[in-house]
Amino acid sequence: MKWEENVRKVVPYVAGEQPNKPDMIKLNTNECPYPPAPGVRELAAGMDCDALRLYPDSNTTLLVDALAEYYGVKPGQVFVGVGSDDVLAMAFMTFFNSDRPILFPDVTYSFYDVWAELYRIPYRICALDEDWHIRPEDYRQPNGGVIFPNPNAPTGLPESLDTVEEIIQANQDVVVIVDEAYVDFGGVSALPLLEKYENLLVVQTFSKSRAMAGLRIGFCIGNERLIRYLNDVKFSFNSYTMNYPAQMLGVEAVRDDAYFKAVTAKVVDTRERVKKELAQLGFTFPDSRANFIFASHRTVPAETIFRALREADIYVRYWNKPRISNSLRITIGTDEQMDRLLGFLKEFLAENQ
Ligand SMILES: *Cc1c(COP(=O)(O)O)cnc(C)c1O
Repeated sequence: MKWEENVRKVVPYVAGEQPNKPDMIKLNTNECPYPPAPGVRELAAGMDCDALRLYPDSNTTLLVDALAEYYGVKPGQVFVGVGSDDVLAMAFMTFFNSDRPILFPDVTYSFYDVWAELYRIPYRICALDEDWHIRPEDYRQPNGGVIFPNPNAPTGLPESLDTVEEIIQANQDVVVIVDEAYVDFGGVSALPLLEKYENLLVVQTFSKSRAMAGLRIGFCIGNERLIRYLNDVKFSFNSYTMNYPAQMLGVEAVRDDAYFKAVTAKVVDTRERVKKELAQLGFTFPDSRANFIFASHRTVPAETIFRALREADIYVRYWNKPRISNSLRITIGTDEQMDRLLGFLKEFLAENQ
């Protein structure tokens, strides 16, 4: 059809499936296996529905203030969005506006190339080394911006603050975005580098460590100038991105630091135990500091294991893509969920290798 010539055509990002079966074990989208903080539940139960008549605060003031206080920065350094996907999409649109390619790793969050294609931003991928680490020297070529997650996804591998700083230092003429979706599970945040580099944007989310994937809350912290540019784009696109319940409940989640620390520590504990047990079953994996493990079995192909798990209503993530087609990304669930996964694997591998 003629009209189709003028349509913007994109290949969309494919999110992990959201099955809803009574007895399933869902370890495929890195959600938190524990509920949000008790204060969130309380506030949700008593939420004033009359307030839904009005538009929400387009500046998300209460949530911005709560985050600024928590991270020890000025409110003008914080930007909030509908999940960090929204924050990242806005940041791509705002900061990656050059004819030079943006740079990101080959094995990484698979949304980056989708946004680049959507906004027609040229990009170049830089291969991780054979141990899945970023090679900082790759980020010394001319570019229009840099983005990478730390810890990386789907490997779970953290880069040191030195490596992160080396990349920022070499790229002070462009914006460098560090996607810290998993930093609360033992990574090292780049936030302390904000004092030194005005071109750094640190992006985080409530979806994983704060157990609120369903509300869609993400945020970023950076220099006030960066945040102003980001807000200019946001207010040119959709003023009321974040709904009222999300703003209110988000504040409650930030307030309960003890619960946040307890939940993330519990996930980390379980992760370390599961690492040992997976190794005993013949799996190898990078030493994850995230809430998932990216595992390959020594003899049985990942796809075979993936299908068998799925049959048993145990959902993990698998990509049939170069370099990662023999790995499964397994989210850390409760101890009970992980025991059921490990029990299944033990039996399956005994029969199939
Ligand atoms: C999960 C994830 C996000 C997005 O999470 P939101 O739910 O949109 O906040 C962003 N980056 C990475 C690397 C992720 O894994």
